[in-house]
Amino acid sequence: MSRSSGIGFLAALGRVALATTALAAAATAEPAASAANTAGRVDAERAANPAPGDWLLHGRTWDEQRHSPLTQITRDNVGKLGLAWSYDTGTKRGLESTPIVVDGVLYATGSWSVVYALDAASGRELWRFDPLVPRSKGRDACCDVVNRGVAVWKGRVYVGALDGRLIALDAASGEKLWETPTVDAKLPYTVTGAPRIAKGLVILGNGGAEFGVRGYVSAYDPDSGALRWRFYTVPANKDGPHEHEELQAAAKTWPANSLWESGLGGTVWDSMAWDPELDLLYVGSGNASVYNREQRSPGGGDNLYLASILALRPDTGRLVWHYQTTPGDQWDYTATQHILLADIRIDGSLRKVLIQAPKNGFFYVLDRATGELLSAEKFTHVSWATHVDLSTGRPVEREEANWSRKGRVVAPAVVGAHNWHPMSFHPKTGLVYIPSIHNAYFFEPDPDFRFTPGRFNTAEDFAALSAIFEGYEFFPRLTCDPTGLLAWDPATQKKVWEVRHRYGVPGGILTTAGDLVFQGSGTTFSAYDAASGKRLWSTAVATGVMAPPVSYSVDGVQYISVLAGIGGSSGAHFASLETENDGRILTWKLGGDAAAPLARPLAKGSVEGARHSAAGSPEAVARGRDLYAEHCLRCHGAGLRSSGLYPDLRYSSRKTHEQFDPIVLGGIRAGGGMASFADVITPENSADLHAYVIERALVEPSVLETLAGWLYERGACVPEEWMTN
Ligand code: CA
Repeated sequence: MSRSSGIGFLAALGRVALATTALAAAATAEPAASAANTAGRVDAERAANPAPGDWLLHGRTWDEQRHSPLTQITRDNVGKLGLAWSYDTGTKRGLESTPIVVDGVLYATGSWSVVYALDAASGRELWRFDPLVPRSKGRDACCDVVNRGVAVWKGRVYVGALDGRLIALDAASGEKLWETPTVDAKLPYTVTGAPRIAKGLVILGNGGAEFGVRGYVSAYDPDSGALRWRFYTVPANKDGPHEHEELQAAAKTWPANSLWESGLGGTVWDSMAWDPELDLLYVGSGNASVYNREQRSPGGGDNLYLASILALRPDTGRLVWHYQTTPGDQWDYTATQHILLADIRIDGSLRKVLIQAPKNGFFYVLDRATGELLSAEKFTHVSWATHVDLSTGRPVEREEANWSRKGRVVAPAVVGAHNWHPMSFHPKTGLVYIPSIHNAYFFEPDPDFRFTPGRFNTAEDFAALSAIFEGYEFFPRLTCDPTGLLAWDPATQKKVWEVRHRYGVPGGILTTAGDLVFQGSGTTFSAYDAASGKRLWSTAVATGVMAPPVSYSVDGVQYISVLAGIGGSSGAHFASLETENDGRILTWKLGGDAAAPLARPLAKGSVEGARHSAAGSPEAVARGRDLYAEHCLRCHGAGLRSSGLYPDLRYSSRKTHEQFDPIVLGGIRAGGGMASFADVITPENSADLHAYVIERALVEPSVLETLAGWLYERGACVPEEWMTN
């Protein structure tokens, strides 16, 4: 059976149907009896009342609680979990998607927005759809070519491709029904988030703030792909005319001399939730195109609607309320993190709340009908603000965190105290389980910063940071157990327990009614007691897990499933893979006895290629270091120490060294994801970069690096609060 076949599987299944005809009928009529045209049958009625074994929506339910009511796997028998099946995605980049499971079919996405439909009980491939995203688009992705999943609705599967296309597929065959562009292809937009369905519309955001785009969220007709509404999170200019009236209020919070050409950011790249009863769609917005607020917005201003939780009417896109978590943000403190809805008892009364633990390190509980802030407390070490003032709803910033004119070490780091990795709410314990990150970051302003389209426009001083970055790998590794599984009581705003991990990437979280919490960390995947945090079961997964697990049942058997594959932003910077990053979908059940996936050791590199290349002058190396920090470091790693996800340039072959210019400027490896940088790197720059690459390949580790590595091996670590003032 062909891996890419859209039709072949139907015959293999014995389910013969004319998929497109079936789909056309399904849109207007009751489903017929054949299996093929009942694929992907999710509608409002079913989504509101899912069977316990279903996982029909991104967060399982509209409230995005990510809690499975299945009880077959319990605290007592979880030790008997074994692998049911493993599916090779054929990828080596990051995997972040949440599978959707409908009537025994599992739909997931992988790197480069590829969609997989598998038999959920056996892992057998039913179909596979590759949207053929141009690999050069990878350059516009701040944080890897990831995708966080599909939406399945009324016989169709919707995926947002990295290049900005919204694509509708036939759920039975994987055939493309239509596609529509959702972004201006000339601009460095990317789409990595899962589409959501709210009030029968397909909702999709986008990313690209660091490169200079203007953020928005859009709603599309599920049948035709026609645009129904678009809500921009930031104005295009100070004086208008504005696309919609909410931007007039936003424009008042931006000075006339703001850096309008930067696009301002505020991208809606991940989180959404819907409350059908209140008829409110909640979305989270991101950071600005330029981090440094004195350069982005001279003279100040809150800069609405950056870093905000927005409550919209799903059928019109009109704003009902907003809450800005980080007014005038300058630390990349997005509010795009998981938005979770729950009804919880606070001081004796049942409240309908919205919960978010964004990058800025505060855990927010809001009244989701009105947007009123009920409470906000730090869930990790936070140095940028002393507290959130409940009377004003605003954070009280610390001057020590203002890096507009002076370099500062600030916690949380740009990666955040919590990033995209989904949380989970357990209705019985009443706790929220957070994939926590404990870290700090050095912000250094560049006084000569000028916005340049297509560049990484944060206004940080890369020349000053580059030397620090060379040793930067060791700072996160020296932080004590930098990630965790944090159980937090949203009613009392108190930590109940936290398990800390020695690994840099925390996995997303699933809770089940078997009183279990599942999370991956490092190259293991584990189950914990939801009440105590005691680890009850753990298994080796050949490569790392950062994706969130799901649970579902088929024919009375409960399964736990998760994608394994390191990547994303934290994967590229904090991982240190020792094995090939072979992507997989792994699924367990009680008594499962499938063979464990093989871990293939990473081949050891050789610097022979660099030895045969001509060394550059010290001046060229110094210039190359700064260029590398600005253009190359995000993928290839600090000091050329690759995480294992991207080629380690120290070990480039002789041929690669000979083709340095054709690769960097000519784009001869664009097909593999290494686009041409000729628009921002001159031939002279390229020579300097090459000199730096050769120097790093041949240099001996510094005394500091050697010492840090020695200490790390012996378990030495630095509490993150020691890093900031
Ligand atoms: Ca960002």
